[in-house]
Amino acid sequence: MESGSQIIPTLALNLLTDAEAHYKQDNKFSPEILQSLHAVFGNVLIRAAEMLENASFLRYQTHNKKRQLIKVVNRSEQYTLFTNINFCHCQAFKYQVLQTRNVITCKHVLAAKLAHICGQMKVELVTDNQLADLLNYQYEQHGNLQT
Ligand SMILES: [Zn+2]
Repeated sequence: MESGSQIIPTLALNLLTDAEAHYKQDNKFSPEILQSLHAVFGNVLIRAAEMLENASFLRYQTHNKKRQLIKVVNRSEQYTLFTNINFCHCQAFKYQVLQTRNVITCKHVLAAKLAHICGQMKVELVTDNQLADLLNYQYEQHGNLQT
């Protein structure tokens, strides 16, 4: 089913919820949690962990939190993600997640989840119009990239 690939599998999602609960308690990931995360996400976890050290994560949200957008900036690269939707415009997502299905998600999506758990996600409140502008800008960027 084509749309199935857009949703993070339940097992992975439960694991992230688990990881979040543990992190809140101990302020770090236990070796067991890291092992389970690695079992589910494979090397994407390693790359996501590297990103946590180098990248910046920003969540734009409207005041009622109904609409949200996450921006991940890693050196010169920038990706826009959506909360609760497993999708990214990067090449890895296109080939490894959607085509070969080797992995559940890409490092950007996973890193954003981890950044949220570790409190590394900055939040900026925006209006509905500002959020719409950000979205439009994003589509224009990627429209150009794909041609
Ligand atoms: Zn990505």
